[in-house]
Amino acid sequence: MDDFLFDLMQHDDFENMYFCQEKTSGLKAVIAIHDTTLGAAAGGIRMQPYASEKDAILDAARLARAMTYKWAAAGINKGGGKCVVIADPKHEKSEALLRHLGQFIQRLNGLFLAGTDVGTTIQDMEIIARESSFIVPTAEGKGGPGDSGPATATGVVQGMRACLNARYGSSDLRGRTVAVQGVGSVGKAVIERLVQAGAIVTIADIDSQRVVQLAAEYTVRVAQPGEIAYLPVDIYCPCALGAVLNDISIPQLQCQIVCGSANNQLAEERHAEMLKQRNILYAPDYIVNAGGALWSVDSLNPGGFNRERAGASLSRIYETTTKLIALAQELKIPTARAADLLAEQRIITAREQSTNTPLFDGVRKLRA
Ligand code: NAD
Repeated sequence: MDDFLFDLMQHDDFENMYFCQEKTSGLKAVIAIHDTTLGAAAGGIRMQPYASEKDAILDAARLARAMTYKWAAAGINKGGGKCVVIADPKHEKSEALLRHLGQFIQRLNGLFLAGTDVGTTIQDMEIIARESSFIVPTAEGKGGPGDSGPATATGVVQGMRACLNARYGSSDLRGRTVAVQGVGSVGKAVIERLVQAGAIVTIADIDSQRVVQLAAEYTVRVAQPGEIAYLPVDIYCPCALGAVLNDISIPQLQCQIVCGSANNQLAEERHAEMLKQRNILYAPDYIVNAGGALWSVDSLNPGGFNRERAGASLSRIYETTTKLIALAQELKIPTARAADLLAEQRIITAREQSTNTPLFDGVRKLRA
Protein backbone atom coordinates (compact mmCIF):
# COMPACT_ATOMS: atom_id res chain seq x y z
CA MET A 1 0.00 0.00 0.00
CA ASP A 2 3.13 2.21 0.06
CA ASP A 3 2.14 5.76 0.95
CA PHE A 4 -1.55 5.12 0.53
CA LEU A 5 -2.57 5.73 4.14
CA PHE A 6 -1.04 9.14 4.78
CA ASP A 7 -1.90 10.25 1.24
CA LEU A 8 -5.52 9.39 1.98
CA MET A 9 -5.43 11.14 5.36
CA GLN A 10 -3.78 14.24 3.99
CA HIS A 11 -6.07 14.43 0.96
CA ASP A 12 -9.18 14.92 3.12
CA ASP A 13 -7.38 16.18 6.21
CA PHE A 14 -8.13 13.30 8.61
CA GLU A 15 -7.12 13.66 12.24
CA ASN A 16 -6.62 9.99 13.18
CA MET A 17 -7.02 6.41 12.01
CA TYR A 18 -7.08 3.71 14.68
CA PHE A 19 -6.46 0.06 13.88
CA CYS A 20 -7.82 -2.44 16.38
CA GLN A 21 -7.04 -6.16 16.41
CA GLU A 22 -7.59 -8.93 18.91
CA LYS A 23 -6.48 -12.44 17.96
CA THR A 24 -8.72 -14.70 20.05
CA SER A 25 -11.98 -13.12 18.84
CA GLY A 26 -10.69 -12.36 15.34
CA LEU A 27 -11.44 -8.64 15.73
CA LYS A 28 -10.09 -6.43 12.95
CA ALA A 29 -11.48 -2.92 12.95
CA VAL A 30 -10.65 0.57 11.72
CA ILE A 31 -11.87 3.70 13.50
CA ALA A 32 -11.52 6.77 11.30
CA ILE A 33 -11.69 10.19 12.96
CA HIS A 34 -12.12 12.85 10.32
CA ASP A 35 -12.71 16.22 11.99
CA THR A 36 -13.54 17.04 15.61
CA THR A 37 -13.71 20.82 15.30
CA LEU A 38 -17.38 20.83 16.32
CA GLY A 39 -17.17 18.09 18.94
CA ALA A 40 -16.41 14.42 19.57
CA ALA A 41 -16.57 12.24 16.46
CA ALA A 42 -19.91 10.44 16.32
CA GLY A 43 -20.80 7.73 13.83
CA GLY A 44 -21.90 4.17 13.38
CA ILE A 45 -20.16 0.82 13.55
CA ARG A 46 -20.40 -0.96 10.20
CA MET A 47 -19.64 -4.69 9.96
CA GLN A 48 -18.92 -6.12 6.55
CA PRO A 49 -16.66 -8.81 5.03
CA TYR A 50 -14.55 -6.35 3.00
CA ALA A 51 -12.68 -7.76 0.00
CA SER A 52 -9.44 -6.18 1.24
CA GLU A 53 -8.03 -4.15 4.13
CA LYS A 54 -7.66 -1.23 1.75
CA ASP A 55 -11.40 -1.36 0.94
CA ALA A 56 -12.20 -1.30 4.66
CA ILE A 57 -9.93 1.69 5.31
CA LEU A 58 -11.36 3.57 2.33
CA ASP A 59 -14.92 2.87 3.46
CA ALA A 60 -14.20 3.98 7.04
CA ALA A 61 -12.61 7.17 5.69
CA ARG A 62 -15.43 7.96 3.24
CA LEU A 63 -18.10 7.36 5.87
CA ALA A 64 -16.29 9.34 8.60
CA ARG A 65 -15.88 12.34 6.31
CA ALA A 66 -19.57 12.16 5.36
CA MET A 67 -20.45 12.26 9.08
CA THR A 68 -18.44 15.49 9.51
CA TYR A 69 -20.57 17.09 6.80
CA LYS A 70 -23.82 15.58 8.06
CA TRP A 71 -23.39 16.90 11.63
CA ALA A 72 -22.10 20.29 10.51
CA ALA A 73 -24.92 20.91 8.04
CA ALA A 74 -27.51 19.71 10.56
CA GLY A 75 -26.27 22.23 13.15
CA ILE A 76 -25.13 19.53 15.60
CA ASN A 77 -21.88 19.99 17.53
CA LYS A 78 -20.38 16.62 16.73
CA GLY A 79 -17.44 15.62 14.56
CA GLY A 80 -17.13 12.98 11.87
CA GLY A 81 -16.09 9.45 12.72
CA LYS A 82 -16.87 5.90 11.70
CA CYS A 83 -15.84 2.41 12.70
CA VAL A 84 -15.72 -0.49 10.26
CA VAL A 85 -15.26 -4.06 11.41
CA ILE A 86 -13.91 -6.51 8.85
CA ALA A 87 -16.22 -9.47 9.47
CA ASP A 88 -19.30 -11.18 8.11
CA PRO A 89 -22.08 -10.14 10.51
CA LYS A 90 -23.96 -13.41 9.85
CA HIS A 91 -21.08 -15.78 10.65
CA GLU A 92 -18.26 -13.94 12.41
CA LYS A 93 -20.00 -11.73 14.94
CA SER A 94 -19.53 -12.90 18.53
CA GLU A 95 -19.93 -11.47 22.01
CA ALA A 96 -16.14 -11.64 22.50
CA LEU A 97 -15.49 -9.68 19.30
CA LEU A 98 -18.03 -7.00 20.21
CA ARG A 99 -16.69 -6.70 23.76
CA HIS A 100 -13.11 -6.35 22.54
CA LEU A 101 -14.25 -3.63 20.17
CA GLY A 102 -15.95 -1.94 23.14
CA GLN A 103 -12.64 -1.99 25.04
CA PHE A 104 -10.89 -0.20 22.16
CA ILE A 105 -13.65 2.42 21.94
CA GLN A 106 -13.39 2.92 25.70
CA ARG A 107 -9.64 3.57 25.41
CA LEU A 108 -10.36 6.47 23.05
CA ASN A 109 -11.99 8.07 26.09
CA GLY A 110 -14.85 9.82 24.32
CA LEU A 111 -13.09 10.86 21.13
CA PHE A 112 -15.44 8.50 19.26
CA LEU A 113 -19.14 7.99 20.09
CA ALA A 114 -20.53 4.88 18.43
CA GLY A 115 -23.98 3.86 17.20
CA THR A 116 -25.45 1.24 14.85
CA ASP A 117 -24.87 1.00 11.11
CA VAL A 118 -25.12 -1.66 8.41
CA GLY A 119 -24.33 -5.06 9.96
CA THR A 120 -24.79 -4.04 13.61
CA THR A 121 -27.93 -3.97 15.73
CA ILE A 122 -29.28 -2.36 18.87
CA GLN A 123 -28.56 -5.68 20.66
CA ASP A 124 -24.91 -5.50 19.52
CA MET A 125 -24.67 -1.99 20.98
CA GLU A 126 -25.86 -3.29 24.32
CA ILE A 127 -23.02 -5.83 24.33
CA ILE A 128 -20.42 -3.23 23.29
CA ALA A 129 -21.77 -0.88 25.97
CA ARG A 130 -20.77 -3.42 28.66
CA GLU A 131 -17.18 -2.39 27.90
CA SER A 132 -17.59 1.23 26.91
CA SER A 133 -19.51 4.23 28.18
CA PHE A 134 -19.16 5.91 24.77
CA ILE A 135 -22.00 4.11 22.99
CA VAL A 136 -25.03 6.11 21.88
CA PRO A 137 -27.97 4.64 23.80
CA THR A 138 -30.49 3.10 21.44
CA ALA A 139 -32.85 0.55 23.01
CA GLU A 140 -36.30 2.13 23.15
CA GLY A 141 -37.54 0.24 26.22
CA LYS A 142 -34.53 1.53 28.18
CA GLY A 143 -35.15 5.22 27.51
CA GLY A 144 -33.20 5.27 24.23
CA PRO A 145 -34.47 6.52 20.87
CA GLY A 146 -35.04 3.08 19.27
CA ASP A 147 -35.01 2.37 15.51
CA SER A 148 -33.89 5.42 13.53
CA GLY A 149 -35.78 4.49 10.31
CA PRO A 150 -39.02 6.38 11.07
CA ALA A 151 -37.12 9.56 12.09
CA THR A 152 -35.05 9.34 8.90
CA ALA A 153 -38.31 9.05 6.95
CA THR A 154 -39.73 12.15 8.68
CA GLY A 155 -36.61 14.06 7.63
CA VAL A 156 -36.88 12.85 4.02
CA VAL A 157 -40.50 14.05 3.86
CA GLN A 158 -39.40 17.42 5.30
CA GLY A 159 -36.83 17.58 2.49
CA MET A 160 -39.53 16.75 -0.09
CA ARG A 161 -41.73 19.56 1.21
CA ALA A 162 -38.86 22.06 0.98
CA CYS A 163 -38.14 20.94 -2.61
CA LEU A 164 -41.82 21.14 -3.59
CA ASN A 165 -42.00 24.64 -2.16
CA ALA A 166 -38.92 25.69 -4.12
CA ARG A 167 -40.19 24.16 -7.36
CA TYR A 168 -43.95 24.78 -7.21
CA GLY A 169 -44.39 27.46 -4.54
CA SER A 170 -46.26 25.09 -2.19
CA SER A 171 -45.02 22.41 0.17
CA ASP A 172 -48.34 20.54 0.01
CA LEU A 173 -47.94 16.85 -0.83
CA ARG A 174 -51.61 16.36 -1.71
CA GLY A 175 -51.92 15.05 -5.26
CA ARG A 176 -48.13 15.01 -5.80
CA THR A 177 -46.75 11.86 -7.40
CA VAL A 178 -43.85 10.08 -5.68
CA ALA A 179 -41.91 6.96 -6.73
CA VAL A 180 -40.32 5.19 -3.74
CA GLN A 181 -37.45 2.82 -4.52
CA GLY A 182 -36.91 0.38 -1.64
CA VAL A 183 -39.48 -0.26 1.05
CA GLY A 184 -37.28 -1.27 4.00
CA SER A 185 -37.09 0.46 7.36
CA VAL A 186 -37.00 4.01 5.91
CA GLY A 187 -38.97 3.42 2.68
CA LYS A 188 -41.93 1.92 4.52
CA ALA A 189 -42.12 4.85 6.94
CA VAL A 190 -41.81 7.32 4.02
CA ILE A 191 -44.77 5.63 2.30
CA GLU A 192 -46.83 5.80 5.47
CA ARG A 193 -46.20 9.56 5.79
CA LEU A 194 -46.79 10.27 2.09
CA VAL A 195 -50.07 8.36 1.92
CA GLN A 196 -51.24 10.16 5.05
CA ALA A 197 -50.40 13.50 3.43
CA GLY A 198 -52.44 12.64 0.32
CA ALA A 199 -49.62 11.94 -2.15
CA ILE A 200 -50.03 9.46 -5.02
CA VAL A 201 -47.35 6.86 -4.29
CA THR A 202 -45.77 4.17 -6.46
CA ILE A 203 -43.44 1.63 -4.82
CA ALA A 204 -40.90 -0.99 -5.88
CA ASP A 205 -38.51 -3.35 -4.12
CA ILE A 206 -36.53 -6.41 -5.14
CA ASP A 207 -38.13 -8.12 -2.15
CA SER A 208 -41.55 -8.84 -3.68
CA GLN A 209 -42.98 -10.06 -0.37
CA ARG A 210 -42.43 -6.67 1.23
CA VAL A 211 -44.12 -4.99 -1.74
CA VAL A 212 -47.15 -7.29 -1.49
CA GLN A 213 -47.41 -6.60 2.25
CA LEU A 214 -47.24 -2.83 1.84
CA ALA A 215 -49.64 -2.79 -1.10
CA ALA A 216 -52.15 -4.59 1.13
CA GLU A 217 -51.63 -2.05 3.93
CA TYR A 218 -51.58 1.24 1.98
CA THR A 219 -53.20 2.67 -1.15
CA VAL A 220 -50.18 2.59 -3.45
CA ARG A 221 -49.32 1.61 -7.01
CA VAL A 222 -46.66 -1.00 -7.67
CA ALA A 223 -43.88 -0.79 -10.28
CA GLN A 224 -41.05 -3.12 -11.27
CA PRO A 225 -37.66 -2.45 -9.56
CA GLY A 226 -36.14 -1.72 -12.98
CA GLU A 227 -38.63 1.02 -13.88
CA ILE A 228 -39.28 2.85 -10.58
CA ALA A 229 -36.50 5.43 -11.12
CA TYR A 230 -37.78 6.41 -14.56
CA LEU A 231 -41.46 7.10 -13.90
CA PRO A 232 -42.84 10.54 -14.85
CA VAL A 233 -43.40 11.77 -11.28
CA ASP A 234 -42.92 14.90 -9.20
CA ILE A 235 -40.48 13.13 -6.85
CA TYR A 236 -38.20 10.13 -7.25
CA CYS A 237 -37.32 8.88 -3.75
CA PRO A 238 -34.34 6.47 -3.61
CA CYS A 239 -34.45 4.50 -0.33
CA ALA A 240 -32.39 1.46 -1.28
CA LEU A 241 -28.96 1.68 -2.86
CA GLY A 242 -26.22 4.24 -3.41
CA ALA A 243 -24.89 5.43 -6.82
CA VAL A 244 -28.38 5.45 -8.37
CA LEU A 245 -27.66 8.85 -9.97
CA ASN A 246 -25.13 8.09 -12.69
CA ASP A 247 -24.34 8.45 -16.40
CA ILE A 248 -26.93 5.83 -17.35
CA SER A 249 -29.81 6.80 -15.05
CA ILE A 250 -29.71 10.62 -15.17
CA PRO A 251 -30.57 10.98 -18.90
CA GLN A 252 -33.58 8.67 -18.35
CA LEU A 253 -35.06 10.38 -15.27
CA GLN A 254 -38.49 11.91 -15.79
CA CYS A 255 -38.94 13.41 -12.33
CA GLN A 256 -38.78 17.04 -11.19
CA ILE A 257 -37.14 16.30 -7.83
CA VAL A 258 -34.88 13.60 -6.38
CA CYS A 259 -35.24 13.30 -2.60
CA GLY A 260 -34.60 10.08 -0.71
CA SER A 261 -32.72 8.44 2.14
CA ALA A 262 -30.16 6.30 0.30
CA ASN A 263 -26.57 7.22 1.14
CA ASN A 264 -24.18 8.36 -1.61
CA GLN A 265 -26.82 8.65 -4.33
CA LEU A 266 -24.47 10.49 -6.71
CA ALA A 267 -22.12 7.97 -8.33
CA GLU A 268 -19.60 10.83 -8.71
CA GLU A 269 -19.59 14.51 -7.74
CA ARG A 270 -19.97 15.58 -11.38
CA HIS A 271 -23.41 13.93 -11.50
CA ALA A 272 -24.75 16.79 -9.38
CA GLU A 273 -23.97 19.12 -12.30
CA MET A 274 -25.66 16.69 -14.74
CA LEU A 275 -28.85 16.85 -12.68
CA LYS A 276 -28.67 20.63 -12.62
CA GLN A 277 -28.29 20.71 -16.42
CA ARG A 278 -31.46 18.62 -16.68
CA ASN A 279 -33.24 21.03 -14.32
CA ILE A 280 -33.89 18.24 -11.81
CA LEU A 281 -33.83 19.48 -8.23
CA TYR A 282 -31.63 17.19 -6.14
CA ALA A 283 -32.04 17.16 -2.35
CA PRO A 284 -28.53 16.24 -1.10
CA ASP A 285 -28.72 12.83 0.58
CA TYR A 286 -26.79 13.63 3.74
CA ILE A 287 -29.01 16.65 4.41
CA VAL A 288 -32.39 14.95 4.01
CA ASN A 289 -31.40 11.59 5.55
CA ALA A 290 -30.03 13.18 8.74
CA GLY A 291 -33.29 12.60 10.66
CA GLY A 292 -32.19 9.31 12.20
CA ALA A 293 -28.88 10.82 13.30
CA LEU A 294 -30.60 13.89 14.80
CA TRP A 295 -33.06 11.61 16.59
CA SER A 296 -30.39 9.28 18.02
CA VAL A 297 -27.91 11.98 19.04
CA ASP A 298 -30.54 13.55 21.27
CA SER A 299 -29.87 10.75 23.76
CA LEU A 300 -26.41 12.27 24.40
CA ASN A 301 -27.97 15.35 26.00
CA PRO A 302 -27.63 15.60 29.78
CA GLY A 303 -30.76 13.92 31.13
CA GLY A 304 -30.95 11.54 28.20
CA PHE A 305 -33.34 11.12 25.27
CA ASN A 306 -36.33 13.43 25.04
CA ARG A 307 -38.87 12.41 22.38
CA GLU A 308 -40.39 15.92 21.96
CA ARG A 309 -37.03 17.67 21.66
CA ALA A 310 -35.72 15.01 19.26
CA GLY A 311 -38.89 15.27 17.15
CA ALA A 312 -38.62 19.07 17.02
CA SER A 313 -35.02 18.84 15.80
CA LEU A 314 -36.22 17.06 12.63
CA SER A 315 -37.95 20.21 11.36
CA ARG A 316 -34.48 21.73 10.86
CA ILE A 317 -34.22 19.55 7.74
CA TYR A 318 -36.91 21.66 6.02
CA GLU A 319 -35.04 24.86 6.87
CA THR A 320 -31.61 23.55 5.86
CA THR A 321 -32.92 22.18 2.55
CA THR A 322 -34.65 25.51 1.80
CA LYS A 323 -31.47 27.42 2.66
CA LEU A 324 -29.18 25.32 0.47
CA ILE A 325 -31.55 25.46 -2.51
CA ALA A 326 -31.57 29.26 -2.25
CA LEU A 327 -27.76 29.30 -1.98
CA ALA A 328 -27.43 27.00 -5.01
CA GLN A 329 -29.70 29.29 -7.04
CA GLU A 330 -27.85 32.40 -5.94
CA LEU A 331 -24.40 30.99 -6.74
CA LYS A 332 -25.54 28.97 -9.77
CA ILE A 333 -24.02 25.82 -8.35
CA PRO A 334 -25.45 22.32 -7.85
CA THR A 335 -27.40 21.80 -4.61
CA ALA A 336 -24.89 19.13 -3.53
CA ARG A 337 -22.09 21.72 -3.63
CA ALA A 338 -24.26 24.24 -1.77
CA ALA A 339 -24.78 21.66 1.00
CA ASP A 340 -21.02 21.11 1.28
CA LEU A 341 -20.46 24.87 1.48
CA LEU A 342 -22.96 25.25 4.32
CA ALA A 343 -21.23 22.46 6.25
CA GLU A 344 -17.70 23.76 5.52
CA GLN A 345 -18.72 27.28 6.49
CA ARG A 346 -19.86 26.09 9.91
CA ILE A 347 -16.66 24.16 10.58
CA ILE A 348 -14.41 26.97 9.40
CA THR A 349 -16.27 29.52 11.51
CA ALA A 350 -15.93 27.28 14.58
CA ARG A 351 -12.23 26.70 13.86
CA GLU A 352 -11.68 30.40 13.40
CA GLN A 353 -13.38 31.21 16.69
CA SER A 354 -11.23 28.71 18.54
CA THR A 355 -7.84 29.17 16.86
CA ASN A 356 -7.93 32.39 14.84
CA THR A 357 -6.87 30.48 11.69
CA PRO A 358 -7.48 32.50 8.51
CA LEU A 359 -11.05 32.37 7.23
CA PHE A 360 -11.62 30.12 4.25
CA ASP A 361 -14.84 31.50 2.89
CA GLY A 362 -15.98 29.39 -0.01
CA VAL A 363 -19.28 31.23 -0.28
CA ARG A 364 -17.67 34.68 -0.39
CA LYS A 365 -15.16 33.49 -2.99
CA LEU A 366 -17.93 32.23 -5.23
CA ARG A 367 -19.96 35.41 -4.75
CA ALA A 368 -17.01 37.59 -5.77
P1 NAD B 1 -33.26 -1.51 4.60
O1 NAD B 1 -32.24 -2.56 4.38
O2 NAD B 1 -34.25 -1.69 5.72
O3 NAD B 1 -34.15 -1.35 3.25
C1 NAD B 1 -33.59 -1.31 1.98
C2 NAD B 1 -34.62 -1.88 1.01
O4 NAD B 1 -34.15 -1.70 -0.31
C3 NAD B 1 -34.83 -3.39 1.20
O5 NAD B 1 -36.21 -3.68 1.31
C4 NAD B 1 -34.23 -3.99 -0.08
O6 NAD B 1 -34.88 -5.18 -0.50
C5 NAD B 1 -34.46 -2.85 -1.06
N1 NAD B 1 -33.63 -2.90 -2.26
C6 NAD B 1 -32.33 -3.29 -2.38
N2 NAD B 1 -31.94 -3.20 -3.66
C7 NAD B 1 -33.00 -2.72 -4.36
C8 NAD B 1 -33.21 -2.38 -5.72
N3 NAD B 1 -32.26 -2.55 -6.64
N4 NAD B 1 -34.40 -1.90 -6.11
C9 NAD B 1 -35.42 -1.75 -5.20
N5 NAD B 1 -35.26 -2.05 -3.88
C10 NAD B 1 -34.08 -2.52 -3.47
O7 NAD B 1 -32.49 -0.14 4.71
P2 NAD B 1 -33.01 1.23 5.35
O8 NAD B 1 -32.60 1.32 6.76
O9 NAD B 1 -34.45 1.42 4.96
O10 NAD B 1 -32.12 2.29 4.55
C11 NAD B 1 -32.36 2.60 3.20
C12 NAD B 1 -31.27 3.52 2.68
O11 NAD B 1 -31.25 4.71 3.45
C13 NAD B 1 -29.85 2.94 2.76
O12 NAD B 1 -29.10 3.44 1.69
C14 NAD B 1 -29.32 3.50 4.07
O13 NAD B 1 -27.91 3.58 4.07
C15 NAD B 1 -29.95 4.88 4.05
N6 NAD B 1 -30.09 5.48 5.37
C16 NAD B 1 -30.81 4.86 6.34
C17 NAD B 1 -30.95 5.44 7.58
C18 NAD B 1 -31.74 4.78 8.69
O14 NAD B 1 -32.06 5.45 9.67
N7 NAD B 1 -32.13 3.54 8.57
C19 NAD B 1 -30.35 6.69 7.85
C20 NAD B 1 -29.63 7.33 6.83
C21 NAD B 1 -29.50 6.70 5.59
